[in-house]
Amino acid sequence: MQDTIHALLALQELDTEIYRLKDELRRLPQERAQRRAQIDAVVARKDETARKLLELKIKIKELEDLSTMSRQRIRKVENEASQARADVALHAAFQHQIRSLKKDITVADEEALTHMTEAEKLEAEVKKLEGEIAAAETVFAEFSGNVEREMGVAQGKLDKLAGERKSRLGPGIEPEIFQTYERLLSTREGVALAALEERVCQACYIQVPVNLYVRVARGTQVVTCPSCDRIFYVAGA
Ligand SMILES: [Zn+2]
Repeated sequence: MQDTIHALLALQELDTEIYRLKDELRRLPQERAQRRAQIDAVVARKDETARKLLELKIKIKELEDLSTMSRQRIRKVENEASQARADVALHAAFQHQIRSLKKDITVADEEALTHMTEAEKLEAEVKKLEGEIAAAETVFAEFSGNVEREMGVAQGKLDKLAGERKSRLGPGIEPEIFQTYERLLSTREGVALAALEERVCQACYIQVPVNLYVRVARGTQVVTCPSCDRIFYVAGA
């Protein structure tokens, strides 16, 4: 049984590294996706600001057109008013119309001015965000390249270890024990074995009864932890 434990410990050594590499291969793309999402959020904010800016520019153009049209209309009405000088009532009506048009122009110009101030702010914001995005993209491109490289290295190591693992799976371990080991490996985050030191499980830190400790120390059978279920070994045995 000591041979089995030794074989399992050798396997665990490989599997610890295999789990670490698999974790790295999971974590790296996640981190990259997170960074990508952060940049995309800034891009979305920039796009939204640019859209507001465009809307504002359209409004300003409309107000400017309205102002121009009112000015043209004033000239026309002024002309009509000078021709109707003799008719006092009609002349007064034209003058009233001119005042009303002038008021429209003032309102439109004031509104356009307010929009222009806002548009300037938005334009500066878009420029600022564009700068931020460009800088973030440069950093991301470098990070992404590093991720590719690191993943390539990790995958290479993993493939090598998988081959090594296969060669270590000799006839030394009974199928039933191996199955238990494999199950624990997946349910206990890659750590299927636990050292038992002075009756304390070094994985979950529960204290085991004396008779259980004796069984482990005797090394005649595979004993698992009553709490975390891991296969016990006595360190140095
Ligand atoms: Zn335990």
